[in-house]
Amino acid sequence: MGVHNVMEDVVRDTLMTYKNSMNLACDCERCLNDIMALALNDLPPRYVANSKFSPYIRAEHQADRQGATNIITVIAKSAAKVSSSPRCETYAQTKQHN
Ligand SMILES: [Zn+2]
Repeated sequence: MGVHNVMEDVVRDTLMTYKNSMNLACDCERCLNDIMALALNDLPPRYVANSKFSPYIRAEHQADRQGATNIITVIAKSAAKVSSSPRCETYAQTKQHN
């Protein structure tokens, strides 16, 4: 039981593809999750009742260029926000050593 938000997969895929070009201050799991959560709050959810259908909806989003560009823009904004003040311990520790 339960529903699945396909936008979550789309954002995760997109973040993984572009994170190296986003100049992240930190790319630990905590920070990536923060970026994902921020981006998902700004993007319309796409719920499916059966996750069997999620690959089709993902493909639909990847084929929609304007939609894909918007998703990348939102993720880049979220990445910039998280990078300006990472809230994870990994980053706090690196900072202490500097
Ligand atoms: Zn981090």
